[in-house]
Amino acid sequence: MTILSFTEKNQLTQDDIAEACNVTRQAVSKWENGNGFPEVSLLLPLCNELEITVNELLSGERVSEEDYLKKAEENMVNLVREAQESKKKIILSAMAAGLTIIAAVPLFLLSGMLAMENWMRILLIIIGLVVICGGIVIACILDRDAGAYECPDCKNRFVPDMKSYIMGPHTITKRKLVCPNCGAYKYCKKVLTK
Ligand SMILES: [Zn+2]
Repeated sequence: MTILSFTEKNQLTQDDIAEACNVTRQAVSKWENGNGFPEVSLLLPLCNELEITVNELLSGERVSEEDYLKKAEENMVNLVREAQESKKKIILSAMAAGLTIIAAVPLFLLSGMLAMENWMRILLIIIGLVVICGGIVIACILDRDAGAYECPDCKNRFVPDMKSYIMGPHTITKRKLVCPNCGAYKYCKKVLTK
């Protein structure tokens, strides 16, 4: 989405919009560049300020009356699709983690229970560890890729790079990350859309 054309037409500056929406100028700049999307609660104040409808904001252009329904339906379908794809990736990620454990545990059990040479025991344990590492990597790649994280301070939504994703302490729904917009290092909520 880009709101640039709307701000130009209404001769609004980034500061005007930032003030109306109670966000930083950097957040507005990201919206303008299409690098981020305002939080749901900001959509109405933003559209009021720009004197457009949410439908037009999502479409990125003025929508004529006859196209209005068609555009609205397109936008709805796109939003639902994005959320569904994120969910799918999260489920896949959980499945990868689960399958990994199912695959690796028997290897550890066998290495502990059966009579065998020590080198075979060690080999089984190593294979088990490799399977687990591979599974975790796949689960992380899928999960990082799904949706985005939302900064609790400035509501900026972003996808962290792999390093900060892996290093960040986390709960099931939150991960501690540095917000690229305001620089806060906080627990950011996982959200399904960017
Ligand atoms: Zn922030």
